[in-house]
Amino acid sequence: MLLVPIGREECQLTFQHSEPHFCRTCGESRDFGLRLIYAWGSLFYVAGFVIERQYQLVCPHCGHGWVIEPRDAERMLGGDPVPFYQRSGWIVAAVLSAIVGVAALRHNGLL
Ligand SMILES: [Zn+2]
Repeated sequence: MLLVPIGREECQLTFQHSEPHFCRTCGESRDFGLRLIYAWGSLFYVAGFVIERQYQLVCPHCGHGWVIEPRDAERMLGGDPVPFYQRSGWIVAAVLSAIVGVAALRHNGLL
């Protein structure tokens, strides 16, 4: 049986970005803050990839809010805020694996 170490971690990021909206729960206008809740996984603790993500605009007083489209949130933020190794570490691992694989084949005279 092959055991592949797979990790999963849930994270939350908050940002300086805020927008004034009327909060139905508080009954007045509040500066709703943007936050990102996401889960990312990894293979062998290095090959990271995002499993799920949800951007929310949330009232800072009561927590009432709603989900917004990732495309709209990332436009507000100017890009994807998830650290590179968590969202695209799998690309680095795949490239390194290919390099090691080719080197092993050449070393054994198979290429
Ligand atoms: Zn509120």
